[in-house]
Amino acid sequence: MIRHCMTWRSYERRLLSNNNDINMVEMGMSNEDIEKLPHFDFKRKNDMIKGSNCAICLDIFDVGEKCRLLPPCEHVFHAECVDLWLLKSPFCPICRARADVK
Ligand SMILES: [Zn+2]
Ligand SMILES: [Zn+2]
Repeated sequence: MIRHCMTWRSYERRLLSNNNDINMVEMGMSNEDIEKLPHFDFKRKNDMIKGSNCAICLDIFDVGEKCRLLPPCEHVFHAECVDLWLLKSPFCPICRARADVK
């Protein structure tokens, strides 16, 4: 009886993890994976993105704002904007590069 339960449990878990894999592809990234992407506080000296704006909210980057960089394409967004985006879609909002490529 106990063994029967254990077998069923592992079968159930396998089903659940398969579902999770599908969700990862179609439904965006987990908070955990998003936090692994590089981020930094915007500084006036940061010439790389000086005068740029965030393609999601269209505001320019302000000193002290937390920004996040997507490594495959090096596009930069506000962390708070792109984090919400990546939860729904793993693709860069500008060029559609996959942000979760490891
Ligand atoms: Zn923004
Ligand atoms: Zn991009």
